[in-house]
Amino acid sequence: MIAPMVKEPDPRLHRKAVPVTQVTEQILRLIDTMIETMVVAQGVGLAANQIGSNLNILVASPDGKEGKELVLINAVILGRRGRARLAEGCLSVPGVSSDVVRAASVTVSGLDRKGRPVTVEADGLLAKILQHEVDHLQGYLFLDRLGAWKRRRLLRQYQRLCATLRQVQL
Ligand code: ZN
Repeated sequence: MIAPMVKEPDPRLHRKAVPVTQVTEQILRLIDTMIETMVVAQGVGLAANQIGSNLNILVASPDGKEGKELVLINAVILGRRGRARLAEGCLSVPGVSSDVVRAASVTVSGLDRKGRPVTVEADGLLAKILQHEVDHLQGYLFLDRLGAWKRRRLLRQYQRLCATLRQVQL
């Protein structure tokens, strides 16, 4: 199943996720929907609030290989090392992107889709995806990682794009 993407300025993007207490059939279905929605949208990562769920779940697919997606439930970043600047966009803020400085590598713990504890050591693109998605689950967008001036400029650009799209859809 594919779910509609929640887009800025939807308030669900600005709320902290609720921890998953048990991996039920319903949670597994939600995870499958997240993966399918990410694949169809050609994204490399997705947080549950981007499809309207308030649960703490993220999926990531740095290499785009179907069936190899990383699933993390209740993800927590335990360690951050170094700094890396990479261009970033977001399926919930389509049409705008910016360089974002984040940690170059991270240690993230959580549960896998079977509910087993896992720890992931990530660098490169995966490190960036995990930080972006954990931010989502805390209620933050990549725009919130930018300086105030740049954030305002990108938001204005995004709002102009939305207005143009609305006109086209009329
Ligand atoms: Zn995003």
